[in-house]
Amino acid sequence: MATVEEFKKELCYKADNAGATLSVEEIAKADAFAEGYKKFLNEAKTEREATQVVLSQAKEKGFQEFVPGKKYEAGDKLYYVNRDKAIILAVIGKKGIDEGVKIAAAHIDSPRLDLKPNPLYESDEIALFKTHYYGGIKKYQWVAIPLALHGVVVKKDGTKVTVKIGEEECEPKFVISDILPHLGAEQAKRTLSEGISGEELNVIVGSRPFKSDEGSELVKLNILKLLNEKYGIVESDFLSAELEVVPAFKADDIGFDRSLIGSYGHDDRVCAYPAAMAAFDIEAPDYTVISVLTDKEETGSDGNTGLQSSYLKYFIAYLAKANGLEVYQVLSKSECLSADVNSAYDPTFNSVFEKNNTSYLNKGVVITKYTGARGKSGTSDASAEYMGKIRAMLDKANVVWQIGELGKVDAGGGGTVAKYIANLDIDVVDLGVPVLSMHAPYEVISKLDLYMAYKAFYAFFKQ
Ligand code: MN
Ligand code: MN
Repeated sequence: MATVEEFKKELCYKADNAGATLSVEEIAKADAFAEGYKKFLNEAKTEREATQVVLSQAKEKGFQEFVPGKKYEAGDKLYYVNRDKAIILAVIGKKGIDEGVKIAAAHIDSPRLDLKPNPLYESDEIALFKTHYYGGIKKYQWVAIPLALHGVVVKKDGTKVTVKIGEEECEPKFVISDILPHLGAEQAKRTLSEGISGEELNVIVGSRPFKSDEGSELVKLNILKLLNEKYGIVESDFLSAELEVVPAFKADDIGFDRSLIGSYGHDDRVCAYPAAMAAFDIEAPDYTVISVLTDKEETGSDGNTGLQSSYLKYFIAYLAKANGLEVYQVLSKSECLSADVNSAYDPTFNSVFEKNNTSYLNKGVVITKYTGARGKSGTSDASAEYMGKIRAMLDKANVVWQIGELGKVDAGGGGTVAKYIANLDIDVVDLGVPVLSMHAPYEVISKLDLYMAYKAFYAFFKQ
């Protein structure tokens, strides 16, 4: 007769804590993998930088620039860059492309503050930049922290200047001011979401006037003079620029046990990095594998660098056509892991989570069957059949995984690129890493979960 414990083991479901179940060797591998990831976080804070870093690694690993129309052979490694803000990596498989492709889709844009087209102004002898926030942020989190400026400026003559300032120790940082508590009584009456308004997210960029006995707005003039000396730009060049204000923090280990990583932009670099590494490491796969690292997810995937555009479809269409196929013949047979993060259970703010259906730090990669809000609105709900296939694949590859919803029903919601991939008639499910303080300037993830994401993408490509 079996004991209660034996029955429980056989019949009940409970996700494992990877820290308890993994071997010491496996944990050491995860910790080593995290070192490369931290370097990536520090080098690639924007979609353009992430594209550049992945591109240069791809070239080092022998990936060739994709040539539309060319017929590729098994084992060929390709990259395709979309407008410097998104990148596709592909390894051609041994099977015909008529059997479909395996896609891992992650995004490399993160919530931030974009400069407005005409950003620079002077107010009471302080020079500031006006910003328009990008993606879902809690605005109060962005004041009184060190900020850096990243992006490009296209000058009137068409030349492009790259800007990256505030990252090195010797470089100046930028900051948004907040009201001191002594005078904060009126502000404290605002709701938390209105504590700092969008038009109050003004970045301080200088305070010393241009040396002159005459004239007005001399602080602004002095900043323009410095910008002209450093970058060769004039004020009107801001009109054709993409400049992004991001936290100036570096990635750090968190905790006495160093089990976690604190950083800006885990969402979604924590999936993009392992998805790229899996594409780099896979050798001679059976199926053609594709890692797409896309832009614009945080603003709804619109725009020609987001996954609502056709660039991924066109890439696959070229591969299909070179093999005498229509693109739909490939897409309909294809499968995808929409590689995006989910909210990690937070013991301090536990009321928004439903404990049996939320993801936890250290319990491995999280499968999110559906996203959406208010009755699954706006979701691609993965089928039971595809869920069954993916869980069997993960178990076979010894990937520690868990299931999770984004918070309680009616507590809120969110979305990913999954539905845009599903609209191409591809089987897709969200699989990614749980994140604490998601969309904050400094988010937290677990090293073991990161490594399990890598193992999951690798196993998916290895099928
Ligand atoms: Mn995301
Ligand atoms: Mn996000």
